[in-house]
Amino acid sequence: MRHSAVAALACAAPLSADAASRAFDVVPLGVEGGVVEGSTSAWFIARRGQEQGLACDAGTLVPGIRAAIAKGGFPTGTRPSDVLHRRIGAYLITHPHLDHVAGLVMVSPDDSPKPIFALPDVNAALAADYFNWSAWPNMGDRGRPPLLGRYHYQDLTPGAPPVPVEQSGLTVTAFPLSHSGALSTAFLIRAGEEALLCMGDTGPDAVEHSARLTSLWQAVAPLVRAGHLRAIIIETSYPDPRKDAELFGHLTPSWLKRELARLGDLVGEPAKMAGLPVVIGHIKPSVDGGPQNVEAIKRQLSEGDGPPVRYIIAEQGRSLAF
Ligand SMILES: [Zn+2]
Repeated sequence: MRHSAVAALACAAPLSADAASRAFDVVPLGVEGGVVEGSTSAWFIARRGQEQGLACDAGTLVPGIRAAIAKGGFPTGTRPSDVLHRRIGAYLITHPHLDHVAGLVMVSPDDSPKPIFALPDVNAALAADYFNWSAWPNMGDRGRPPLLGRYHYQDLTPGAPPVPVEQSGLTVTAFPLSHSGALSTAFLIRAGEEALLCMGDTGPDAVEHSARLTSLWQAVAPLVRAGHLRAIIIETSYPDPRKDAELFGHLTPSWLKRELARLGDLVGEPAKMAGLPVVIGHIKPSVDGGPQNVEAIKRQLSEGDGPPVRYIIAEQGRSLAF
């Protein structure tokens, strides 16, 4: 009895020290890249220990919140409306594709007032294409009148100094990404000195004929070097092999590894990439169901060469801490 208590303590000590050093809580609300409704891209992100956080993308809200409550991702007794109204204090929207905003549009009549942080063109598209009294009533504070004003569009300037996000204790900086020629966004979210990168859909620079990932990697390399980048949330839509011409602005395991290797080169110290959590979302499910794409991507990421990061395949509702 005494012996096992001592053993339990010995185990608990490093665990709690580790837990205390975490800076962010992340609850994947939606982890798939389209095809099926109910788990398209959305991430609840909060400063560790803080009730109010934000949603990075909002392809799925209520089904993801319900799944997270069922899996213990929020404290016992939490109602979905508590998460929606109080814990999600703001939205960060990477791009206006349906699989990243459907949950926000659908829940808007029952949502609490919130700001939507996005690059100006993304906010403009939300106002023009969704909250326009044709696709949906205008819940925003711009665009076709009357303006219901539940959501306040807050434009972010690319690469600008961090902007505080409501009462979350978090700040955000936006970096543009290239998504098959369309604009997407990476959000660098900070809690004090610590940072987490939540990335929208993107293709590799070489395929996109873009330098946007290069610019992003240059911006975050010093954070990796200093040990302050806690995690990268990024898409891997398709398993290998897939022709570059059929990527449609997305990544495969081989392209993700090549991009992370470029980040590693900029960091310059391989040891600093070791164990860096890279959270994978936006995997395209097959219409017929089944885990084959997830399994293939998991296997392909674990095989072969590549930076010594720690890949985590996100599961809807299964909370993470970094
Ligand atoms: Zn998408």
